[in-house]
Amino acid sequence: MVLFFCCITLKNFKSSKLNQKPYIIELPKNHSQMSYKKRKKKYPNMLVNIALPVPLYKTFDYKVHKDSLLPAVGCRVQVPFGRQTLIGLVIAYTQLEDCQIPSNKLKTITQIIDKNPIVDKNWLKLASWLATYYHYPLGDVIGVMLPTFIREGKPINVASPHWRILPEVLAAYLKEDTIPSQISARAYKQLEHYQNLCVFGEDGIDETQLSKHKLTKSYLQKLAEKQVAERFLQTPVQPKQAKMIESPLHLNNEQSLAIQAICDAKNKAGYQGFLLNGVTGSGKTEVYLQAMLPILANNQQVLILVPEIGLTPQTYARFANRFEANILLLHSGLNNSERLAGWQHCRDGQAQIIIGTRSTLLYPFKNLGLIIVDEAHDTSYKQQDTLRYHAANIALYRGLQHNIPVVLGTATPSLEHIKLVQDGKLTELALSKRAGKAKPPELYLVNACNKNTTYIQQPDGHAIDSRLTNDVVKTMRKHLQAGEQVLVFINRRGYAPILLCNACGWQADCPRCDSHLTVHQSQLNTQQPSYLKCHHCDWQAYMPTTCPTCASHNLDAVGMGTTRLTENLHALFANPQISKQIYPIIQIDRDTTRRKHSWQKIYQTINTGKPAILVGTQMIAKGHHFPNVTLVVMPTADRGFLSADFRSPERTAQLIMQVAGRAGRDQKTGKVLIQTLQPDNPLLLNLVKNGYQPFAQSLLNERQLLGLPPYTFAALIRCEAKNYQQTLAVLNEAKSLLPAHHQLAILGPVAATMKKKNNRYQSQLLLLSKNRQQLHTVLNHWWLTVKNLPVAKYIKLTLDIDPIAW
Ligand code: ADP
Ligand code: ZN
Ligand code: ZN
Repeated sequence: MVLFFCCITLKNFKSSKLNQKPYIIELPKNHSQMSYKKRKKKYPNMLVNIALPVPLYKTFDYKVHKDSLLPAVGCRVQVPFGRQTLIGLVIAYTQLEDCQIPSNKLKTITQIIDKNPIVDKNWLKLASWLATYYHYPLGDVIGVMLPTFIREGKPINVASPHWRILPEVLAAYLKEDTIPSQISARAYKQLEHYQNLCVFGEDGIDETQLSKHKLTKSYLQKLAEKQVAERFLQTPVQPKQAKMIESPLHLNNEQSLAIQAICDAKNKAGYQGFLLNGVTGSGKTEVYLQAMLPILANNQQVLILVPEIGLTPQTYARFANRFEANILLLHSGLNNSERLAGWQHCRDGQAQIIIGTRSTLLYPFKNLGLIIVDEAHDTSYKQQDTLRYHAANIALYRGLQHNIPVVLGTATPSLEHIKLVQDGKLTELALSKRAGKAKPPELYLVNACNKNTTYIQQPDGHAIDSRLTNDVVKTMRKHLQAGEQVLVFINRRGYAPILLCNACGWQADCPRCDSHLTVHQSQLNTQQPSYLKCHHCDWQAYMPTTCPTCASHNLDAVGMGTTRLTENLHALFANPQISKQIYPIIQIDRDTTRRKHSWQKIYQTINTGKPAILVGTQMIAKGHHFPNVTLVVMPTADRGFLSADFRSPERTAQLIMQVAGRAGRDQKTGKVLIQTLQPDNPLLLNLVKNGYQPFAQSLLNERQLLGLPPYTFAALIRCEAKNYQQTLAVLNEAKSLLPAHHQLAILGPVAATMKKKNNRYQSQLLLLSKNRQQLHTVLNHWWLTVKNLPVAKYIKLTLDIDPIAW
């Protein structure tokens, strides 16, 4: 095994983190059915070892009542714990001799919730590995991995609720297309529901899928009251084999080679990790689709991970157009019952294609055959609280565990993944050209100093700077007049990032965080008053009309967010007083897409292909395929090259290339205009002239020279408290407990990048090592000691392994 987690062995639950080592007894297959008498004879002193949702680095032994059967490993049980009752998961059995608690103090399991294990051995091994690698309590790991309802002890459904039209009503409908007399002609909604439900025939539709087909439970209930429809329980039947219903595209050479390599891995080695390194528009999705085909034909499941905001109706449609199969979508917007149903369908094999965000990787799967991580460089794959895992790493671990291929697809691989290729741990599959007839977009730098920018005349005579250069405005007009669409990218929502008093220099800051408040206002929609908002803690206030320190009226919104840019674009391209032709301007950010179906509406507008200007944050940067976008403008995208964070150039370059990749994805060549105040910035020049790959290599060389990740391995300890000095004191104490001769590089404790957030202070301590094993060996003992400090009981101390920001 050559993977990067080689230092962590897969030994069952004998991790050094568990100060109580469960003893695993090989039990006969039918052991859980064994009677007390037989059990007592065979295993006289057996206890059940249980992981409980408590933040303690140990598992707990319990006795089994003599009238009860033995719960199998992987079953949920209810137990007394102090004054509480908790639900835990059986993970092993222990011999009484090995238990440190005197036998008269041992408590008994009060209820066995599951007859059969709800998770398999592979899943339990994953939980154990996560606990060890991320130094997180096993019980809490399991808590993160299980859906809420399972954690709360809800029964695993063997049957799932469905809706259908009653057989005799359906028969009449099929024969004569009748409308039952119970539905009045004016009950449009009921009528619509009746007709929509008829389409699903006698099998009906799964209750969790209702909203996808525009069906609402309340109207179906009305139909049920009128004896037209019914809700019934359907026991799962194995799904029909997935069928290809759209003919595949004719592949280019590089695509064929990539698919061949994935299929070969599947047939020969089983596990292999691939980096599908394909420029934007190179047809990575077609590679996924065709690599999936033999897996689905073999009745195995395919898991496709997408970044948090990459999951769109378009993503779903591309898979649903190709395959007739049970496709499951799992995203953060699901409620608890939808999530539970999804979890069950992964587990029982009902779901054949699963498209999900980060946490889907923690689900149990009946028969997983392939894992794809789309846009694998995306930072949303890293969980930023509780169990701070990285989904791309876990994808590789699960691939190895299930012995199946894993494909990490991206146009802008992270430096970590490029290094894994160079170390021989990932196989690179390159797609260097755009698919079909599309050509690569042309990138240009535009000097944005204010003598080049276009000014907008106001009715009162003064002019405001649009922050778009004359050349950019001219080029935009040209593309719009040619009937094409233009995308303008700005990575900041709201109106402006700063409110400044020109008289005294006061700035509007968040009272709870170390950050400026963002100005939110909409002059286009005058009903909404302007307000200030903190993007870190959501604190809000109405916009002051005078400066709170000097009472001056001279307040200025400084900088530009999506709303202000949209406003400027309106003045330039949609003002009937200055131009004959008016173009729609579509603002796409978290504020405009919050409402249900708003994304869909925006898609529909864009997909008409009519000339329009799209203004968006990074929501619009990823994965989207808008064939008629031929021009991309980035007014301020180069800012990230000025940041002090050593990862910022990598992130900025990824974002620029992703956004640029939206241009010219069809027949017409795309153009990308990057406005900058530093046209000589060496990083920017390198990226624009040479492209992402050589740029990334130069960053890698620099990281190696400076001893930074991926050439070193990091663990970040954060301390959070109401008092800043206390956070430093705690981390200093922790630091003093590090073993002598630890050979790690230690930085800190220092204030976190954002020292104060939501009225709490944060400081951090960074441990770096050239050797991953060495780092974890130190952490194994030291972190437990730190967590056992008396102060750790009331102060938040967290550990982030392979952190992506510090
Ligand atoms: P990527 O994800 O690599 O950015 P997509 O998978 O979205 O690219 O593909 C871009 C476009 O190219 C899509 O419209 C897709 O249908 C098309 N395409 C992919 N492969 C081929 C091919 N072999 N021949 C013609 N068109 C293709
Ligand atoms: Zn002032
Ligand atoms: Zn705040």
